Amino acid sequence: MAGPKRILFAGSECFPLIKTGGLADVMGALPPALDSRGLEVFTLLPGFPAVKAGVKRAKKVGVLSDIAGGSVNILKGKSPTGQTILVADAPHLFDIDGNPYLDANGKDRADNGIRYAAFSEIAAKVALGQAFKWKADVVHAHDWQAGLVAAYLSLTEGPTPKTVFTIHNLAFQGQFPKSLMRKIGLPAQMFHQDGVEFWDKISFLKAGIIYSDLVTTVSPTYAREIQTEEGGMGLGGLLKKLNHKLHGIANGIDTEVWNPETDDALPKPFSKKAVAGKKAAKKSLLQHFGLSHKAKGPLFGVISRLTEQKGLDLVAASLPHIVGNDAQLVLLGSGDKDLEAVFEEAARNHPNHVGAFIGYDEQLAHQVQAGADVILVPSRFEPCGLTQLCAMRYGSVPLVARVGGLADTVIDASTAALKHKQGTGIQFSPAGFDPFIAGLDRALQLYQDKKTWVQIRRNGMREDVSWALPAAAYHALYQ
Ligand code: ADP
Repeated sequence: MAGPKRILFAGSECFPLIKTGGLADVMGALPPALDSRGLEVFTLLPGFPAVKAGVKRAKKVGVLSDIAGGSVNILKGKSPTGQTILVADAPHLFDIDGNPYLDANGKDRADNGIRYAAFSEIAAKVALGQAFKWKADVVHAHDWQAGLVAAYLSLTEGPTPKTVFTIHNLAFQGQFPKSLMRKIGLPAQMFHQDGVEFWDKISFLKAGIIYSDLVTTVSPTYAREIQTEEGGMGLGGLLKKLNHKLHGIANGIDTEVWNPETDDALPKPFSKKAVAGKKAAKKSLLQHFGLSHKAKGPLFGVISRLTEQKGLDLVAASLPHIVGNDAQLVLLGSGDKDLEAVFEEAARNHPNHVGAFIGYDEQLAHQVQAGADVILVPSRFEPCGLTQLCAMRYGSVPLVARVGGLADTVIDASTAALKHKQGTGIQFSPAGFDPFIAGLDRALQLYQDKKTWVQIRRNGMREDVSWALPAAAYHALYQ
C-alpha cells in the first residue's frame, strides 16, 4: 500500500514492560501487527525504571534539551517481545516506581500534569525529527497521557505529521488547573472552549480530541455511546459535533501471548480439538485456590481492576446466588479497598466455593482464563474489554453486560444464534443486579446441557480475536 510508512506510537504503558490495564496490551500488540503490514512503527514510552530495565540493547540515538527543566535522552531498543521501543530517558520526569499515575496511597501523583505534558512534547519533537534523524508520517497518540501531542504539533511552523488520537477510556481525562498552561509552555490563546479548556480547567483528553486529525476509540458501540449525554462524560456534545473524524475499531489480543496451545502458565496445552488440557487447567486452578469441593455448577472467573466501572459490586451481591446453586467463583483483582475486603471475606466464609487473590498476577490471569468455565465481565461501561476475548480464546464462556466493546465482541448464545452455530457467550442488559442474576441463571442452565455448552465454547474458540483485522482498519485510517 502506498501512503504513510513511519508511525510513532506514543503512550504511557506497553506490555510486557509496564502495564496497569488494556492500554498496555494494545500498545504491545498493535505495533507489531502494523509492522507486519509493512509499516515501520516506533513506540515511544516514558523512561520509567521498569521500562529502562526491560528494554534490550538500548542505545542513545538523540537528545532533547530543556523539557520541563531538564534534558531528555532518547534511547532506542527492543522490548522482550522484539518490538522497537523509543525510551524518553528523563529521570527528572519519569524516575517513579510502581503505578505510573498513582502514589502509594492510591492518589493521583501531584506532578502528573507536568510529567505527561512533557511526555507529549517529547513525542511531538521526536515525530518532527528534532531528536534524531527519523520523522514520523503519522503520530498515533493514546489516552490523556499523550493527549497534548497534537496540540504541541499545532504550534509548529511548517509541515507536521498527521495525528491520530485513540481514547481507550473516556473516564480518565487528565484534568489540571489552568495555572499549568504557562508551566507546560502552551499559549494562553489555547485556553478556550474550542481548545484545551474544559470547565475552567485544562483537559489533556479534550486537547487530543480537538487537535488531532482523527480520533478513534476501541469499539464501534463505544464510539456511539460516547456521543451521548449519558456515555459522553461531559464530552458527548463535542464528540457528536466532531463525529466526522471519530472511528470505532474493536481491539484484538496478542494471540501469541494468549495461546492455550503454547502457554507455559498452564499444566497442559489445549486447543479447540483437544480440550483435555482445559480440564487439567480447571483442576489445577481449583487446587491453587484450595477449593477441593466438587461443585455441580460451573466455575466462574473474574480478572479485573476492582472499580465501580467493572460492576464487581454486582458479583459481590450475587455471591449467595452462586454459592446457593453450588457453583464456584475465583477472583483475581485489585483496586477498591472495600471490594477487596468483600471478596477476601467471601473466600473465608465460603472455603468450598469462593477463592480470591487480591493483587496483580500475569501468570494467574492465564490460569484463570484457562481453568474457568465462565468469565464474568459485568461492566457498567466498557470501551472494548480484553478479558472476554482472552476467555473465548481459552474456551471459557464470557458472561458480559451488553455495553461498549462487550456488545460488539460477544455473540449472545440465544436459541436462534445457537441454531446457526453462532453464540459465543452470554449477554445481559441493562447492567444491573436482576439482569445479571438472569445472566448467571442462563449460564447455570446452559452448563448442565453439555452438548450446547461444548458448542458455545467451540464457537468462541473459532472466533478471530487477533489483531489482524483491527490492524488493517488502522492502516486504512492512516492512508
Ligand atoms: P481495563 O484496561 O479497563 O483494565 P481491559 O479488559 O481492557 O480492562 O484490560 C485488562 C487487562 O489487564 C487484561 O489483559 C487483564 O488480563 C489484565 N488484568 C486486569 N487485572 C489483572 C490482575 N489483577 N492480574 C493480572 N492481570 C490483570
